[in-house]
Amino acid sequence: MYQEVLPNIYLINVPLPESPLKSVNTYFIKGLEGQKNLIVDSGFNEPASKAAFFEAMVSLDFSYANTDFLATHLHSDHFAIMRAIEDRRPKIYLGRYDKAHLTQRSEMNSTSDYFAFTAKLYGLPEVLVDEDAPFVRNTPTENSIERIIGVNAGDVFEVGGYSFEAVLFEGHTPGHIGLYDKEKKVLLCGDHLLGNISSNITYWKDNFDSLGSYLSSLSMLNQLDVEHLLCGHRSNDFDIKARIAELFDHHTERLSEVVDILAASKKSMTSYEVAAKMTWSVREDMWEKYSDQQKWFATGEAMAHLEYLYKRGRVEKDMVGFTARYCSTAGNK
Ligand SMILES: [Zn+2]
Repeated sequence: MYQEVLPNIYLINVPLPESPLKSVNTYFIKGLEGQKNLIVDSGFNEPASKAAFFEAMVSLDFSYANTDFLATHLHSDHFAIMRAIEDRRPKIYLGRYDKAHLTQRSEMNSTSDYFAFTAKLYGLPEVLVDEDAPFVRNTPTENSIERIIGVNAGDVFEVGGYSFEAVLFEGHTPGHIGLYDKEKKVLLCGDHLLGNISSNITYWKDNFDSLGSYLSSLSMLNQLDVEHLLCGHRSNDFDIKARIAELFDHHTERLSEVVDILAASKKSMTSYEVAAKMTWSVREDMWEKYSDQQKWFATGEAMAHLEYLYKRGRVEKDMVGFTARYCSTAGNK
């Protein structure tokens, strides 16, 4: 099933099995005479996602020969099908910093090592990751990263009567990109801005200020003249400026909550301990009742906020072994 949301741009809701996001919005852009088509974002490498994706390719007459593929960012719900079709040798585009992140990750021995390392850093009591969950199973395995084409800000994609310029919206991932047609005021923004979900902002690596970068990319989006926003999940129909203002408030509140939690603690805390004390908008109101996956995401988000504060001198950090511990600048240890 697909819907032409703008001339030559078709929206396909690709289901995401076992994910609370339910589906991802993929955009199939039909090239004009003599132009290749472009598909933006894909879905999990799982039967239900692939069925919808490939059915739409057939219905719209998109083939590997006449189509290029672009993922707005490296998350498996946007990128995994594209990784699965690499042997068909299409052109696959991804933001250059996301490509660099995958290359770095490929230097670790395995996906399990990556999760074990992150669990230690967060101070998790154990690796709270079910290796068979779709979001883990779909994590790219790194054997042909070289073939992915890294996109730079300013690169232009001419397709379907649009002239899309790549915009770097770093934050949700280190190299998240959007596609913007200034004339037509169309923006494909992936997960950078969503109507009723706050994009997950997590810790990526020491030298990347994910929350700080996210907030500046949001301000950048706020400056763009956009009439048609095409985002990565759920509805495209919301007030962009109001939503951005809401997200700024949300993160500002979060930051003060984290400062207060540390100030009230007599000793330094891990990201995991801070996350357990934060307020989360999920149905279960007891941290103990959270699923392992919810705890994992929540802890990553807590650490992104802690790092934001640490990089601005508002909290202190100590590395104890491989674990990051934070305390209030008031000096509790
Ligand atoms: Zn995402």
